[in-house]
Amino acid sequence: MQSKWWGRRPGRQGSVAVAAAAGTFVLGLLTALIGHGTGAVASTAHPGWEQSVRGGAHAEKRGGEERRTTAGHREKPAKPPVTSRALTHRTAHGGKALALTLDDGPHPEWTPKVLDLLKSEHVKATFCLIGPNAERYPDLVKRIVAEGHRLCDHSVSHDTAMDHKPVPYQKSQILDAKKMIDKASGGARVHYYRAPGGAFTPDSRRIAASHGMRPLGWTADPGDWQLPGTDAIVRRAQQQVEPGSVLLLHDGGGNRSESYAALTQLIPWLKQQGYAFGFPES
Ligand SMILES: [Zn+2]
Repeated sequence: MQSKWWGRRPGRQGSVAVAAAAGTFVLGLLTALIGHGTGAVASTAHPGWEQSVRGGAHAEKRGGEERRTTAGHREKPAKPPVTSRALTHRTAHGGKALALTLDDGPHPEWTPKVLDLLKSEHVKATFCLIGPNAERYPDLVKRIVAEGHRLCDHSVSHDTAMDHKPVPYQKSQILDAKKMIDKASGGARVHYYRAPGGAFTPDSRRIAASHGMRPLGWTADPGDWQLPGTDAIVRRAQQQVEPGSVLLLHDGGGNRSESYAALTQLIPWLKQQGYAFGFPES
């Protein structure tokens, strides 16, 4: 029917054809221009591809280009979302939630005890691992992951003066530890980076975020690493926690009998108070 109509009106068909040809020409011109622009962007973006795709404000600003480059490189579409370099101190979800974070492990004696406790209490936590400890106890790292907890990079040497050191040093502290954790876990995601002693810098946050690790702080610190006694740890934690808190305790770095004993009391108490255990925002 339509073809007949066109057939009966050659003049009209002709003018449409001319218009269509002109349109095609304009489209072609536009495509060429856009194509050229995209090509130029892609070629300049390419050398920094790894950094650009994985994070920071740089990637946030260039989201569109990133997707085109992704298509060009035939990457899987399910890239991890861009990680913020902003330090977080709160749980991923609102409400009466608390994120339990355990630092300085894995430790051959205390980490298994803590994992047993968390398992029996059905509580998930975040483990901030020292790279060489992860390297030394890969089975514990794998167990942490297998039991549904999250991993956090806590550097190689736990240098609490890291914020006064050169950027290449900070970078190797963060990324070498991540490599050790990656190898120990078999490639599980490391969601966070926590600077030793909270010694973050803008550079260390950027480096961590560009490798998918959200800089992670805390809001409740009962100072268990100073061995103040189990009761003091429990009391301080009870005083400091509030909805959304990130609670800092230790399962490594020394004798953690006080921290462990405190946890056996704190977890039931927190549950009684109506707290749900979750992860920090990532
Ligand atoms: Zn630490």
